[in-house]
Amino acid sequence: MGCCTETPIGIAKLKSILQGWSNIIWSSEKVRRIAHERIEICVECDQNNKNFCIDCGCWIPAKARSLEEHCKKWND
Ligand code: SF4
Repeated sequence: MGCCTETPIGIAKLKSILQGWSNIIWSSEKVRRIAHERIEICVECDQNNKNFCIDCGCWIPAKARSLEEHCKKWND
């Protein structure tokens, strides 16, 4: 089950999702660098469907900006 499709949603998961969304607006240089590296991988991934990850159901721009999110294909 994907990170954004679990029900009921846990507090930790909600915090992670909100962190990703808030980092779209307010992000540090570290977050921007990590997100850039992650998104470069997501762009080439066969699980990417119009910026939504088929594997977890997440919106990739927010997932990539949440430091609490993980993907086995990312290098971090
Ligand atoms: S989060 Fe992982 S599985 Fe999903 S699109 Fe990005 S690299 Fe692919």
